[in-house]
Parts: sequence; structure tokens; C-alpha cells
Amino acid sequence: MANPAQRWPTNVPGEFFVDRTCIDCDQCREIAPSTFGDGDGYARVCRQPETPEAVRRALMAIVTCPVGAIGTVGRRSLAEAVAAFPERIEDNVYFCGFASNDSFGASSYLIVRPEGNVLVDSPRFASRLVKRIEELGGVRWMFLTHVDDIADHAKFRRHFGCERIIHRREMRAAIAGIEHTLEGDEQQEIVPEFLAIPTPGHTRGHTVLLYRERFLFTGDHLWWSPEQRRLSASSRYCWYSWPKQIESMQRLLSYDFEWVLPGHGQRHHASAEEMHDSLARCVAWMKKAA
Ligand code: SF4
Repeated sequence: MANPAQRWPTNVPGEFFVDRTCIDCDQCREIAPSTFGDGDGYARVCRQPETPEAVRRALMAIVTCPVGAIGTVGRRSLAEAVAAFPERIEDNVYFCGFASNDSFGASSYLIVRPEGNVLVDSPRFASRLVKRIEELGGVRWMFLTHVDDIADHAKFRRHFGCERIIHRREMRAAIAGIEHTLEGDEQQEIVPEFLAIPTPGHTRGHTVLLYRERFLFTGDHLWWSPEQRRLSASSRYCWYSWPKQIESMQRLLSYDFEWVLPGHGQRHHASAEEMHDSLARCVAWMKKAA
């Protein structure tokens, strides 16, 4: 629980606050941008929520915050905010909320389908989220973009019996015994309509997942930058090889997609043509920055 005695002084006065345990994962700014903004390496409340919808979004941010850094001065029921997850993005694609500190607050996604649901990266194994996922049909496959965002994968495996997929180059003791490993650098259809595309760079075996040529789950490879008004990546948070990440990014230019759904950073929706143009500008910037 957030501690009012530890609240950042830069929060605007009022009911909602962020305390000093914030790890700056960005979830609250994504979920409730009218309430939360940038501090200096942390999030802060930049405007108290005034409408019922703004309050609802701020409470959803509390539920998702991986470290419990957001609090309210009085007691508030979180029941409605909890029930809002998984939150539908479009069609049968959902945002899970309930971020885990073990994956530094990364986003995870659920694709609901009659043939078996697919979970992309791992949310926190919270009983109320697990119950909602059960109601939506459970988890048949769990796709892990890379080793940073695996969080509670073993608990999801035990509970749902799902089969996990990750690139072999990401193998660590924490994921030994995983059910399926991808090899090499070629794309691979892992389940009908799901294409795994290796994108080494951020890590050696980082892999993105393309669903129906519309939804691209990008892990820590690619996200939307509101400041630059284009897709972007980070050399600062590139753990393996920036030149490899540039090559991987360039390869993505040959795919169509309309959604970028990242682990960290902002998601983005645009036409396939606009996405292509934005990605091309990202590649040009990466080459310049190399
Ligand atoms: S969700 Fe929590 S940890 Fe993440 S930026 Fe907001 S307050 Fe900080």
C-alpha cells in the first residue's frame, strides 16, 4: 500500500498521490494520462481526477501499479477497477493490467479465441485477474517475448496448464523446462494466425508476435513515442546489440500491422501505411543514432 508520509511533494494536493516507491514503469500514465504525469524519474499526480471516468481510470492505475506506489487519502473500493481487467483493446485482444514488479511493470496481453487463448508475456498472478481469465476461457498458450517479462509464467503454467513459448537464446535457469523454444532468425507460425518474428537486439532472443497481420506485440523492441511522434526504441535500454536491433527493426518493414502493443512505452494504432512510414522514420533515426 502506498504511504502518504512518503508521497512525492510534486503531487498536486488532493486525494490521489504517488509515493517514493514508484519505479517509473509508466503504467499509470498510460492508463490514466489525465491524472498522472512525469516527475523526475518517477510518476506523480499532475491533476486530481474530477470526473467519474477519470476516477475510474485512476483506480485502474492503482490496480495495475506493480509496486503499490499509488494511494488515496481516504478509502476507495477497487472492486470496479479490478473487474475492468482484462480490458478490451480491440476485437478479441485485451490488456491484462496487474503489472508485475518482476518484469519492471511490463504490459501483458490476452487474445481470446475459441481455439484457445494466448497470453503474451506475464502479468502478476493475482487471484482476481486469474479468475477473470478463467471466465474468458483460461490460457492455452503463453508467448514470452523475452526473458525480462516472464514474471509469474510458472504460476500461470501450473494453474492453466498452458504451453509456454520463448526463443532458445533467452533460456535461463528461471525458464528451464519450458515447453517450446524457437530457433534461429526466421519467422515461424506458432499457432494459426500467430507469427513469431525473431528481433534480436534488446536481448539475444527477443521475439515479437504478429497476430492476423494487425496486432504486433513488441515486448521491449518497439513502442510509440509521443514526443517524437513516431515509433521508437532505446539504445540506453538495449542489453544485447544496438546494430542487431536496427537490423531487426528493418526486417519489420516487410510486415503489415495496425497496432503496436509493447511491454514498455505507449501503444499505438494507425493504418498499416502510417505504421510503415513511422517505422521507416524510426529505422532512419536508429541508424543516425548508431
Ligand atoms: S504505475 Fe506505479 S510504479 Fe509505475 S509509474 Fe505509475 S506509480 Fe510508478
